[in-house]
Amino acid sequence: MNPVHLRVLTNFENARRTGGLDWPLGVCANGHPDRFLVEDPHRRDKMGNQRIGHRCSKCVSLSRARYLWRKRNSGKPMPFDLLLAREKPQRNGSASRILT
Ligand SMILES: [Zn+2]
Repeated sequence: MNPVHLRVLTNFENARRTGGLDWPLGVCANGHPDRFLVEDPHRRDKMGNQRIGHRCSKCVSLSRARYLWRKRNSGKPMPFDLLLAREKPQRNGSASRILT
């Protein structure tokens, strides 16, 4: 492990980074500024008690738009404006992970 490759993050920022993804601080995985973070009223712990959590309201809207688009356009490729940041083509022509 090279310490130069490590970065100090808050617990919140560390916990947001799942699935091996990384992105700049101050934005969500899809690049929406943190001002769109809202408390998630549906989060529950294993016992069903409400759990404090946040999610990006823009990503929630994007997820719903993607769901509706897929439902109405089965089998067609997703339009560019509905692609997630990690699905958008990179300069080398392939979709890849988000890196800072
Ligand atoms: Zn977002």
